[in-house]
Amino acid sequence: MDQPRAATDGAAEPPRAAAPIEALTQALEDLARLPASPAPAALGAPRSLDIPERGRPLAEAAAELVREILPRAARSDHPRFFAFIPSPAGAASRLGEALTAAVNPQAGAWRQAEGPAAVEAAMIRWMADAAGFPDTAGGLFMGGGSAANLTAVAAAREAKLQPEKRADGVAYLSAETHSSVLRALAVAGFLPGQIRRVALDAAFRMDASDLARLVAADLAAGRRPFLVVATAGATNTGAVDPLDEIAAVCERNDLWLHVDGAFGASALLSPAHRPLLTGIERADSLAWDAHKWLFQTYGCGALIVRDRARLEQAFGLGADYLRDGDLPGSAPNFWDLGLETSRPARALKLWLTLQTMGTVAIGAAVAHGFRLAAWAEDELTRTPGWRVVTAASMAIVTFRFEPSRLSPEQTDSLNLEAARRLERDGFALVGATRVQGRVALRICALHPDATEGDMRETIRRLDAEARAALRELPL
Ligand SMILES: *Cc1c(COP(=O)(O)O)cnc(C)c1O
Repeated sequence: MDQPRAATDGAAEPPRAAAPIEALTQALEDLARLPASPAPAALGAPRSLDIPERGRPLAEAAAELVREILPRAARSDHPRFFAFIPSPAGAASRLGEALTAAVNPQAGAWRQAEGPAAVEAAMIRWMADAAGFPDTAGGLFMGGGSAANLTAVAAAREAKLQPEKRADGVAYLSAETHSSVLRALAVAGFLPGQIRRVALDAAFRMDASDLARLVAADLAAGRRPFLVVATAGATNTGAVDPLDEIAAVCERNDLWLHVDGAFGASALLSPAHRPLLTGIERADSLAWDAHKWLFQTYGCGALIVRDRARLEQAFGLGADYLRDGDLPGSAPNFWDLGLETSRPARALKLWLTLQTMGTVAIGAAVAHGFRLAAWAEDELTRTPGWRVVTAASMAIVTFRFEPSRLSPEQTDSLNLEAARRLERDGFALVGATRVQGRVALRICALHPDATEGDMRETIRRLDAEARAALRELPL
């Protein structure tokens, strides 16, 4: 591989504090020329982790940060970073984050940050409109989808379960529900016996008729069904649960419907793909990460609820020493809607992105992710020996190299080895997961700068690596 690796050899000049915008632009321009995964040698603990008794020059420590510490990280914003859920943050988001930090508003209360609060309310309104939520909707930004799922679980519990009935409460999810939802339920005090795993259909979507059956059985047994968590874009396969059918079960039984769209809700912004999420407008709450498929830097997740009052009921603080934060006539303070009291203004970078891109370009950028996964799938179907395990769905495709003479276990190891070799090559980073118990390689492609050529070349190189690994097997 002749592509340059990240500079870790101490050759770079210290950053000039006077040129932050140029440094930002340069870093973004460099990105596509760097490998998608850092050289293994670049990983490991940085050298000077000890805190000195007396401080040293800022330029020196900042240069070390740039040269020694920041390169020791995966580049989830690289065009060919296809593992996990990438975070292809755009330049406007990075600049918005830097400007926000420069002023550092306390976005907990309107009186402390009227401008940022108005922007946050407007961004939530824009997302609520995209989802088709009514005028009563509201919400707030927080660290990400995990926090949003926890906040939603707490709001659902307050809305649907009287305190003395909590031990009878039952929540419904599927085997493809993100693990942060299970953690949220545990944190909220629910025991494993209060959680039902609804069956999946052949496409890994929650089976709404099984949901209806489980709810009826729990009601008959005197339990209190209160929450269904549906997924719009499962992390593993991109599957979208049948939201309309699930919403119907929830409405019939007075259950809170939370839609985890942390990754997939961005499809609402592409007119061609919005119909995939039909029914989302019937949800009580929606988790939607802007730091995944909405091109923001990390720490930019939103929770939107159909009835804003539900968040105040669950999270209102009501402390005397916080009354100063009230601005007469304004909406409730954000510190009364979620878990954070002091909180950063997370929505400003999204505002800057949307102002500069506009909705048409944002929709096109989201639609591009669908195409990227489809190109990868197409290349796989043309490459002998490969099987598409789950078809391209919401920018995710899973697949597996299956030469005829290997056992399932050997095939698992071979696929893992192919992904490892591609990572060493540095061209692209492809993830590995399990689907129905067997290893599957996984591509999640969200980057607006990734091309059809990138997708086809990634599959070609993966095929070459898999065949090389196969030849080396002791058979
Ligand atoms: C990424 C993801 C989460 C977790 O969100 P974080 O922002 O990483 O906390 C939750 N649910 C789904 C479906 C996800 O893809």
